[in-house]
Amino acid sequence: MPTASSYGTGEGLTAPTDSAQKAMGGQAPGSASVMEFSRLYDVIKREATDVELYQFLYAMPKAGDIHHHLGGGFLARRWFAVATDPKRNGGQRFYTRFRISPGTERMAPQRRQSPHVYFWMTLNEAEYGKLPSLLRADFKSLDALDDAERRAWISSVKLDLPGEGRDEFFEYTWSRLNNLLSSIHVCAELTVENMQLMSAEGVRYMELMTGYRGWRDEAGRDMSPADADAFWRERLAQPDARATGVLVKFKAVVLRFADNAIEQAEQHMAHIDANRDLWVGLDMAGREDDNRGYPNRFTEVFDRLLRRYPEVNISIHAGEAEKADRNIIESLRLGASRIGHGINLIQDTGTMQLMRNSQHLIEINLVSNHLLGYVPDPDLHPFPVYLRQGIPCCLNTDDRGMWDSNMTDEYFVAAKRFNLSWRELISLGRFSLQHAFISDDERRALTEDFEKRLGAFTASLTLENWRAALGGVASETYGYGSRHLGLGELARTMPHEGLI
Ligand SMILES: [Zn+2]
Repeated sequence: MPTASSYGTGEGLTAPTDSAQKAMGGQAPGSASVMEFSRLYDVIKREATDVELYQFLYAMPKAGDIHHHLGGGFLARRWFAVATDPKRNGGQRFYTRFRISPGTERMAPQRRQSPHVYFWMTLNEAEYGKLPSLLRADFKSLDALDDAERRAWISSVKLDLPGEGRDEFFEYTWSRLNNLLSSIHVCAELTVENMQLMSAEGVRYMELMTGYRGWRDEAGRDMSPADADAFWRERLAQPDARATGVLVKFKAVVLRFADNAIEQAEQHMAHIDANRDLWVGLDMAGREDDNRGYPNRFTEVFDRLLRRYPEVNISIHAGEAEKADRNIIESLRLGASRIGHGINLIQDTGTMQLMRNSQHLIEINLVSNHLLGYVPDPDLHPFPVYLRQGIPCCLNTDDRGMWDSNMTDEYFVAAKRFNLSWRELISLGRFSLQHAFISDDERRALTEDFEKRLGAFTASLTLENWRAALGGVASETYGYGSRHLGLGELARTMPHEGLI
């Protein structure tokens, strides 16, 4: 089983070679045949309650979560727990704005903030210390919040209230987390926790989008990229991380509408090339309705990178929009082998036909598209049309911490709303590995492990025992499952943390 120790295999990065058809076929060694198990799965689909279907999907082996923003992937209550635990956060203390006193309404710790974000902006001690004293009095240590304040803080970093959607997410949620997002100690601990949580759901590969610079140490000091990478390598090699069996790699993300986005792309690629054990690909993200980020702006720089670097892996957010545009075809032109979201591909007949049975995968994010309002009615998501027309797709969690969601929620929405067959369900995991930005050795090991786990899973369920067997699955869902999937009884309540 691959672990963090499989870094540095010395292999180059390779394009996926398996075909779309192969993902749909094949058979797990030692398992009931796909056809036999398909019949059992059809019975389960027909007879299972929603809770039983969720238990089935939670226990079902999954493979990769390859569209996952590192800072968006941490559950709100876990942010709070690690940020207030000096044993796990490097001994730091974080401060958050709990009130707005008269005379401070227009004062913001950092520029570009609206009044809405003033509450619960969280700073490290160094930044807190730089605040004018009047403003500093509106902040208090995170561990000094009372119960109601703690609940409000936790709610402020997830989309759990009516009316919260795209603007809340893009404009405020990230800003509130602020210095927590650059704390390497907090983020590394939460990453290992996420490896544990994902492992429990059957995920074994995570491709995390983040930055290689801007990390800060326990004193709030900027770290060099080399020091930050060393920190990550060391943390991911610890026994608790390795015990998860989850392989983690990083993708560097360019903020597409940033003034220096072109320089970012060049610098990110240079860093990826020099650190291929940890960094495996380049991505571009950010609101597509901000027209400074249009793909053609990057044609020259991507061509330059492709002339300079071998085996470049490119995935680009594109088509995360309701209206038709040319972002997907133009992102393919930049060199993307994977498209993040691809919602409006369905409105682009030519590009859609081009992507059928191709080497280009769409990273589908059902919960994200629902909550951010790009697909307000999940029944109308184009994902099943893509999958059933032979466009390689996989399911991903995007910013699941802010959705208060998990990988099983994605599978539940897909299986329940679109009546997926067993072959279709397992093809999603296979596609995620075929298109992952990993070496041949890593792909082989992860695929063997996935098929072996599928074999054991299918062998464990029969017509006679499935209901009893699924009853014993210790599954977990969170706020999204409770609020939107009717699975409240599976939601873990943690009263001491004041949530759900
Ligand atoms: Zn994304």
